[in-house]
Amino acid sequence: MGTDLKQRTDQANKVLIIDDDLTNKAILEDILHSNGYETRYASDGTEGLKTIAVWQPSVILLDLVMPGLDGIGVLKELRSMDLPSRPSVIAEDKRNLETILAITGAMSATLDPSEVLNIIVNKVAGVTEAVRCSIVLIVKDDEGYVLATHEDPAVRELKLDLSKYPEIKEVISTKAPLALDDVINHPLMAGVKNRIADLKDMSILIVPIVFNDEVLGTLFLRTRKKENGFSRKEIDFCRIVANSSFHALRNARLFEKVTKEKEYLREIALKDQLTSLYNHNFFYSRLEEEFERAVRYETPLSLIMLDIDNFKQVNDTYGHRVGDVVLREIAAMVKRGVRKTDIVARYGGEEFAVILPHTLLKGAVDEAERLREIVESHAYAGLVSNKITVSIGVAAYPQKGAMNSGDLVNYADDALYKAKWSGKNCVRVAET
Ligand code: GH3
Ligand code: MG
Ligand code: MG
Repeated sequence: MGTDLKQRTDQANKVLIIDDDLTNKAILEDILHSNGYETRYASDGTEGLKTIAVWQPSVILLDLVMPGLDGIGVLKELRSMDLPSRPSVIAEDKRNLETILAITGAMSATLDPSEVLNIIVNKVAGVTEAVRCSIVLIVKDDEGYVLATHEDPAVRELKLDLSKYPEIKEVISTKAPLALDDVINHPLMAGVKNRIADLKDMSILIVPIVFNDEVLGTLFLRTRKKENGFSRKEIDFCRIVANSSFHALRNARLFEKVTKEKEYLREIALKDQLTSLYNHNFFYSRLEEEFERAVRYETPLSLIMLDIDNFKQVNDTYGHRVGDVVLREIAAMVKRGVRKTDIVARYGGEEFAVILPHTLLKGAVDEAERLREIVESHAYAGLVSNKITVSIGVAAYPQKGAMNSGDLVNYADDALYKAKWSGKNCVRVAET
């Protein structure tokens, strides 16, 4: 069953190009390879038929006009061939091929991605005789944007509430094309009857635009009701176009904006802006996780708390801006000074915390001492007395009956206070 499925998927990726034009061949191979398709090439009909018999492609891109056995001849022969499954043939006239080529050409020639998206929707609409063809960018679970619509170049960044588009959500989750012939009566659309009232004589086809296993967007086609629904050929054609559209989609302005916003949000949710270290919130949730792991697997876990000595004086003497620079320098040194598996966070204003998984108290104290020396021996540019020191408290599990991550934080804090009371610039350990 697994093998069977694998064979079928393998086969779905096999495209045979039969074309005497070597430029077409090169461009098609380029598009198809960059989209993960496997291709073979035949320069005429006879060679093409041989390849079909032995290689059994799922899609054939067939040039109708060729010397020797032409495309029509290939189609005739193909009909009588005994194959385990019928390949879809994209041919008829040269329109499809030209469309794909025009799209690739447009992609490399124009600099404006939304222009490219407009070309794509217009060409697809032309080939499939769709009444409407749009490209929808998927932003979040329930948020999409129409980036281009056939015959309406003015449509840009029209927001869609995807909770009203179960058909798009279906495609996002299955990552497979979806063709609905009887839109009005399809169970999927039961909840959105109002929205689709004007679709009663329409068939719709939605094809995902996938990159890295993520649905970036969809091609959305609406056409006059079809006798037998969308043909395999139309669906395959749209798939190929969709696959070659992701570059343009990725380059679209909104896409960039949204991606940047997503990264930014992720960044500020976890990281401290000034030092780029993890923030307080992340520190706590991570420490909790590590604590639970330590308990479950009976492994040690240590925590270092580090506070800059007399930092208020630095601010008072040199100003807050210089204080910020020093904070950043120390943050970077601490980050560089710990091991790869340690987690460094900005715990508070001028306080840092280091989580040391799988580390006994002794190892943590050694690391703390090393950090103390690094900070002390660094020359801070712009400070007259260019010396800064830190006080450090260390605690470890299992020790002193720490029951949870909060206990560990308290012990490390107590140790830090001890270090301050002992005259600062030193490392102290939580009482055992
Ligand atoms: P101690 O040796 O006892 O730790 O003395 P301290 O002066 O370092 O400690 P205190 O808690 O009195 O002051 C901490 C100072 O850190 C006060 C605050 O203005 C400064 N601080 C906190 N966050 C920032 C920041 O983001 N940038 C700058 N420049 N200063 C900060
Ligand atoms: Mg301080
Ligand atoms: Mg402090």
